[in-house]
Amino acid sequence: MQPQFVDLHTHTTASDGTDAPAELARKAARLGLAAVAITDHDTLSGLDEAVQAGRELNLEVIRGCELGAATPYGEMHLLGLWIPARAPALEARLEALRAQRTARNRHIVEKLNRLGFPLSYDDVLRFARGESAGRPHIAAALVERGHVASREEAFARFLGAGGAAYVPRELPTPEEGVALMAGLGATVCVAHPMLLRCPAGWLDEILPRLRACGLDGLEAYHSEQSAAQERLCVELARRHGLGLSGGSDYHGLAKPRVRLGRGHGGLRVTLNVLEGLKRRRAAAGLPLA
Ligand code: AMP
Ligand code: FE
Ligand code: FE
Ligand code: ZN
Repeated sequence: MQPQFVDLHTHTTASDGTDAPAELARKAARLGLAAVAITDHDTLSGLDEAVQAGRELNLEVIRGCELGAATPYGEMHLLGLWIPARAPALEARLEALRAQRTARNRHIVEKLNRLGFPLSYDDVLRFARGESAGRPHIAAALVERGHVASREEAFARFLGAGGAAYVPRELPTPEEGVALMAGLGATVCVAHPMLLRCPAGWLDEILPRLRACGLDGLEAYHSEQSAAQERLCVELARRHGLGLSGGSDYHGLAKPRVRLGRGHGGLRVTLNVLEGLKRRRAAAGLPLA
């Protein structure tokens, strides 16, 4: 039998991706992927459309979400997979996080104006097609206005941590983020753990604490993690009794070099990875839809 592949980390127009949810599902089906998880930043608003499209395409669509959390070493990202269709406590928290995003985005625009780069918040919102707007949309507006040549330049000069218009975001603690999603019965994984620039050994300290809050896995396979870093994740997961996840972090044209299901070309997340997460859910008595 042909091996089958999945992609458990993707973004749509609901946050900072550029494919509408149904469009992303159609692309995944065309590529022959067996399953895809939609994991937009701080919003669940793309999920119903993607799940519906998946039904028509005979593609498994997993309801997900990506949450940022504050650590001493920058943002840790948490992926919730199998978010239930009704999740009022999470929805309320996400709504508050999106309100903070809006305030922060406006603050960034003000800073840019003071630096001598005219831009209005409406310019930014024209690039945000969904309810979760952020720095990628500001970057796109800066390119359109001719203030920078590329989104990368926008992040390097203005929007990235340390950039001239950078504004930090108030984020939940990792413990709160994990508990919030795990409490609903979601499978919570640390996204791209090797992108966190933390001292060697810090993950060994925090992972047991997060596991006690309901953490269930590490995203070992990710476009920006090398084979050596994959191995480190597999080892970390084994040491801490965690499962493994994997996905491209596809954002459509917002990150044009990252392809759905393939990352930079070498990424392959086998169906076996998804089945491993499902076995862990079954063992914990958790549903798959
Ligand atoms: P925000 O959610 O508003 O803090 O923006 C973070 C998002 O910006 C991430 O999810 C990435 O999609 C994107 N991003 C972060 N750093 C860069 C970068 N250097 N170049 C392009 N996009 C980036
Ligand atoms: Fe993003
Ligand atoms: Fe992320
Ligand atoms: Zn992501």
